[in-house]
Amino acid sequence: MSTAPPATRRAVLHGMAGTLTAGLAGAATANTQRPVQPAAERVDPNGRFAGQAVLITGGTSGIGKAAAYAFAREGAKVAFCGRRAELGQANQREVEAFGGEALYVRADVSDEAQVESFVQQATDAYGRLDVVFNNAGIDRPPSPIHETESAVFDELMDINFRGAFFTLKHAVAAMLAQDEPGGHIVSVASVGGHRGYPGVMAYSASKAAILSMTRTAASEYSAQNIRVNTVSPGPVDTPMLERAARDWGLEGLQDFAAGAANQRVAQPEEVVRAVMWLCSPEASYVCGADLLIDGGYVLK
Ligand code: NAD
Repeated sequence: MSTAPPATRRAVLHGMAGTLTAGLAGAATANTQRPVQPAAERVDPNGRFAGQAVLITGGTSGIGKAAAYAFAREGAKVAFCGRRAELGQANQREVEAFGGEALYVRADVSDEAQVESFVQQATDAYGRLDVVFNNAGIDRPPSPIHETESAVFDELMDINFRGAFFTLKHAVAAMLAQDEPGGHIVSVASVGGHRGYPGVMAYSASKAAILSMTRTAASEYSAQNIRVNTVSPGPVDTPMLERAARDWGLEGLQDFAAGAANQRVAQPEEVVRAVMWLCSPEASYVCGADLLIDGGYVLK
């Protein structure tokens, strides 16, 4: 923010910073442990998703990029979208370099025609759709409700919620139309969709809407062998969180770590592993559920 916030905003946002840093009490330093196994160097031909077709929205950075690489390493054919073509093409080349199969498609999830075309291109390329990771999303600098611009509200809803709806809608249509109807869909919500954190009403409402949409989708499609679930991450070490730290005037990611019971932020792969589990036979009876992956963030 280029200008000093007015007193009312300072008061509200001070409350938010308090929420974020409350966990610091009694903790000398944030937990910097990163318990993520190094990824395999090559594709595992017998991986859990060998031969499966996976579609990912927002695969150019952060959690979506980690998911694209992880599914490809486990043998999946991965179609992913994002708006930044250079990044997308570079990621596709990196996946191909370790022996994986990937297809980058430039698509903006807030545009239904682009989402429909993306789903079509993925099914044309791979013949079917087994897994959809409905991940694309944005956040915006915090503001109390009475100072939230309607344009900011609309942008968050357009990308986070309408984008997730368009993806779900066209993915389900493709999954129902294939010879063997069925598949797995995981959408990304957030701890914000569960709690009333100050300053982030529009973002949180967009994520709460995804939770609601998922429950309805699970009711509608489970009998047709399509499992629909969500994950709700806490703070994850991605470009989005780095931007958020700057927007909120925090010193760094350790301020978010302080809000988690385990005193650290997640690595993207820790979210991805849970997503892969939800899309695996091991989660065969999990339907319409939300999995918090938050290091105990909402406990505090
Ligand atoms: P990120 O900014 O690193 O990645 C977001 C991805 O979405 C990027 O690939 C971006 O290009 C893409 N994207 C954004 N707008 C798009 C659009 N209109 N069309 C197509 N693609 C678009 O952020 P991230 O942290 O990896 O976020 C991924 C998801 O996780 C988001 O839905 C976010 O709300 C959610 N989430 C993140 C955190 C966190 O702490 N990082 C916490 C909870 C939930």
